[in-house]
Amino acid sequence: MAWVITKLCIDCVDQSCVEVCPVDCIYEYTGDDKASFPNQLFVDPEECINCGVCEPECPWEAIFEDEQVPDVFQSDTPLNARIVDVADDRKVPEKEDKPRPTPEQIESNKEKWGFTG
Ligand code: SF4
Ligand code: SF4
Repeated sequence: MAWVITKLCIDCVDQSCVEVCPVDCIYEYTGDDKASFPNQLFVDPEECINCGVCEPECPWEAIFEDEQVPDVFQSDTPLNARIVDVADDRKVPEKEDKPRPTPEQIESNKEKWGFTG
């Protein structure tokens, strides 16, 4: 059991989730394989203690419990797991101050990724 960060995080990446994670298991990929790892954060499923406190902190509503990941984001579960294998190319990012999205921006981002749920 672990929580999963989905494509809804891509290019949003405000790190609100990182601040609250009690075990620092939310990572940025710092390696060169940008084709495999998009500009988003990833939960290490082996370190995640399944506490769920990150989910309500995400202004973009990008985080789901693994059993609740929408069909359109199914590939994000194994993608998050890949962060386990790149321990030399990952770090817990610093918090950046970014403006919170409007409800319209949140909905527009969901539509962009084909999520209508
Ligand atoms: S569920 Fe808890 S331990 Fe897992 S990523 Fe979220 S805050 Fe961290
Ligand atoms: S809070 Fe949400 S959008 Fe921000 S970095 Fe975490 S998962 Fe991505």
